[in-house]
Amino acid sequence: MAMTPLDASAPVGPPLWLLAELTYRCPLQCPYCSNPLDFARSGDELSTAQWLDVLRQGRELGAAQLGFSGGEPLVRQDLAELIGGARALGYYTNLITSGLGLSDAKVAAFAAAGLDHIQISFQASDPELNDALAGSRKAFRQKLAMARAVKAAGYPMVLNFVIHRHNIHQMPQILQLCEQLDADYVELATCQYYGWAFRNREGLMPSQAQLRAAESQVNDYRARLHARGAPMKLIFVTPDYYESRPKACMNGWGSLFLTVAPDGTALPCHSARLLPIDFPNVRTMSLAEIWYHSPGFNHYRGDAWMPEPCRSCEDKARDFGGCRCQAYLLTGDADNADPVCDKSPYHDRILAARTAADHARTGLDDLLYRNARNSRLLYRG
Ligand code: SF4
Ligand code: SF4
Repeated sequence: MAMTPLDASAPVGPPLWLLAELTYRCPLQCPYCSNPLDFARSGDELSTAQWLDVLRQGRELGAAQLGFSGGEPLVRQDLAELIGGARALGYYTNLITSGLGLSDAKVAAFAAAGLDHIQISFQASDPELNDALAGSRKAFRQKLAMARAVKAAGYPMVLNFVIHRHNIHQMPQILQLCEQLDADYVELATCQYYGWAFRNREGLMPSQAQLRAAESQVNDYRARLHARGAPMKLIFVTPDYYESRPKACMNGWGSLFLTVAPDGTALPCHSARLLPIDFPNVRTMSLAEIWYHSPGFNHYRGDAWMPEPCRSCEDKARDFGGCRCQAYLLTGDADNADPVCDKSPYHDRILAARTAADHARTGLDDLLYRNARNSRLLYRG
């Protein structure tokens, strides 16, 4: 959803969106997963009672939109109970899932519990590539079946494809598949480079030529849908790395979004865990204390923290200097201007990544897949 960025100097308002990352467990192993690289050493997941308490506190603070994600939220056996609890509190609820672990019975149970919205993600338009990227031989078949079950249950069909250099050539086939599935909304989200996607960036990032071709195919398809009066809506999300100004990340740090990770760590965005900041935990602090008073959530509010060129830039109230995680990953200092900005002294790192994407020869076998074994290997010792 497009939103008007907030004034960086405005007083802190309530969080409107709560993202409940219920678990880092997942049967799939997408090499672009946004989960932290060290997810395997994360602490115990919050219990059902603790999650229900987090949801209650979030609603009291003013949150109205609630996303259940992960990992794969379906591995939590208490998901229907959490959905029911959220519904009773008055949230608008959204389940973000790979479709693995879903069944007709679960779709019905979630509908009865009051779930408002389900988004299913695909890896590609054909079973071979989809299942190779997902690391599961049954993934594509299961996703197709569950997409149909979700539609049959009366939900709007919302499909998500993460786009990268290994599937971007499939854009026409992806769009045809979405139409065959009678999708209402299709999000074609080019990879954003955090977590596992950053680790695999050179093997995932499309070239500018690939990106332009895909964008033009999406625009043509959209025009044909419009001419036929077909209702399917296409949303194409371009990667930051091909922009010259950064996005207003999370609409401003600690302004609208509050994420709670599986172990109870509270974050201003789901990637922020990689930053060298001591974030609070809902096990030891109330959500109100976390949101309004914790050093982690106040760290990048306002603009007093900004160095140049952001400090004296007329756009700082529009984009807040971009993404802190991207600044940290690319420069080693999260205070820096997001290198996506062509005024940043580190913009050459973005240009170098584009050049690398033009010449990359990385195959599927060269990617580091997201699984507990690889997570432990990266952080052993
Ligand atoms: S991106 Fe893939 S591996 Fe990561 S949580 Fe989603 S389905 Fe699982
Ligand atoms: S210099 Fe900073 S505030 Fe100005 S456009 Fe670039 S990132 Fe945004």
